[in-house]
Amino acid sequence: MKYWGYLLAKLLGGLGVLAGLRAIVRWLLPEPQEYVTYNNLNPIGHDLTHTIVYFVYFLVCAGVIALIFSDQKYRCRTCARKLRMPVLRGSWDSMLLLGRPHIEYICPYGHGTLKVPELQITGKEPIAWAEHQDIWKELELLHTGKR
Ligand SMILES: [Zn+2]
Repeated sequence: MKYWGYLLAKLLGGLGVLAGLRAIVRWLLPEPQEYVTYNNLNPIGHDLTHTIVYFVYFLVCAGVIALIFSDQKYRCRTCARKLRMPVLRGSWDSMLLLGRPHIEYICPYGHGTLKVPELQITGKEPIAWAEHQDIWKELELLHTGKR
């Protein structure tokens, strides 16, 4: 729940920033009066300056949304913190012996592990989130030797 709430908050924040940027662009580059008064046309697509500025604005919007989603991909599904400690698992050289190469990220609070495949044989492989039951209890049992 925290994960999706954080994503929603980031999207709303990003949309707020983009709306503010659009207001600044409209303030700096008002619509030419000949388009509004005589033709009742939208200057985007008819005026080169407006078309270029709004194309760049569109690219900035797409970049901000892509940044938000790429940041969210590497967050813990439980606490929404950034995942840490990337570890390369598997091997390119001995794939049959050690498994397919992938990178594992772990939550610093032990909530789970994200497995990101490096090898895409049959199209885009989905990333896999594995939630830990109680990693600290398991470590305590290993340390005390009760396991
Ligand atoms: Zn976590």
